[in-house]
Amino acid sequence: MANKLLLQLQQRLAQQQQQHLYRQLNVMQSPQGVEVIFDQQKYLSFCSNDYLGLANHPEIIQALQRGAKQYGVGSGAASLINGYSEQHQLLEQELAEFLQRDRVLLFSTGYMANLGIATALLQVNDRVFADRYNHASLLDSARLVSSKHQRYRHNDMQHLQQLLIKAQVESNTNHQCLIQSDGVFSMEGDFAHLLDLVKLSQHYQTWLVLDDAHGFGVLGANGRGSWENLALNQTQIPILMATMGKAMGCFGAFVAGSEPLIESLIQFARTYLFTTALPPALVMAARKSLAIVKKQAWRRQQLADNIHYFKRSAKQLDLPLLNSSTAIQPLLLKQDHLALEWSQRLWQQGILVSAIRPPTVAKNQARLRITLSTEHQTSHIDYLLEQLNKLYVNSTLKN
Ligand SMILES: *Cc1c(COP(=O)(O)O)cnc(C)c1O
Repeated sequence: MANKLLLQLQQRLAQQQQQHLYRQLNVMQSPQGVEVIFDQQKYLSFCSNDYLGLANHPEIIQALQRGAKQYGVGSGAASLINGYSEQHQLLEQELAEFLQRDRVLLFSTGYMANLGIATALLQVNDRVFADRYNHASLLDSARLVSSKHQRYRHNDMQHLQQLLIKAQVESNTNHQCLIQSDGVFSMEGDFAHLLDLVKLSQHYQTWLVLDDAHGFGVLGANGRGSWENLALNQTQIPILMATMGKAMGCFGAFVAGSEPLIESLIQFARTYLFTTALPPALVMAARKSLAIVKKQAWRRQQLADNIHYFKRSAKQLDLPLLNSSTAIQPLLLKQDHLALEWSQRLWQQGILVSAIRPPTVAKNQARLRITLSTEHQTSHIDYLLEQLNKLYVNSTLKN
């Protein structure tokens, strides 16, 4: 019996390999940064989400060390038992003030925050409307909770409206609806149509969740996120979620919103209730990181300059970039084997770029996901472009 089960697994694995979808772990031997070490060799990295170069920042490391001296390592329990420290409370207050929201609640990961929001607010007959290109954690949360989740075409507000109208006709008015969207789409690098999402959610009286994992810390005049320059408030975006593992260079996530929302998450979000709280030392590190995000606007400026430089040069080379103005710059190769091959070739030249294939993206949409950081030098970007250009001129893509 056991052998039969293992055989089935092996067949599935073999199939994955044949389809160029097999994934492999690479073992890193250095801190996160633009230069990292694998197998005793240096690589130039264009694949992390450490957009502001904070994952290995000396002041944040110090804060973590001080935190460990003061509070030890493990938080030891879930927040509602006794894992919630004064440091957690301070970080929540500082985030709420920064984001101009009533209250913030920390979660252990972004994945769990998204699952927690949906499970706390919805019942099985409630509806979720999700952008087709949303992050997997949002899509999973919709699948987990609602028997009536629907995906609308990427950023297609007319399609979303059609689904909302249909739901309104079919639905009993006691049913709740929730619209979910990434603020910056993680595999496209483009923005959600925030003003339209706000308008639709208000008109059809639905909840709106904005997952700003890739906007928080990076976008807006002060780094508040993808909504900052539109000055969208808590009434317009009632559920704001973001993570601390990307631009903040730390770990964990949070949800920001009204008092009743946050209280409901504390009472009903199972991924909050039944998991160990973030270690207090890590929370101290996140507090330091937030202070740096607020204070050092030059990091966002430098990142913006790097993005601009990369895009301009890539355009001159005619590389098939998607239309993104964020730190996520996807290069569309379409075929899975091409994405894999290019990523392997770049690896041989000392460059790390991840190949993104289905199911992370749709079929025939395989790509390289190039991410830029504040810490990249012009010479780093030039070297990447030189290697990409070599691959491009030798490929069948160029005609
Ligand atoms: C990374 C990411 C998450 C998950 O956050 P983790 O803290 O890594 O679990 C959720 N949503 C989006 C859009 C993300 O990019």
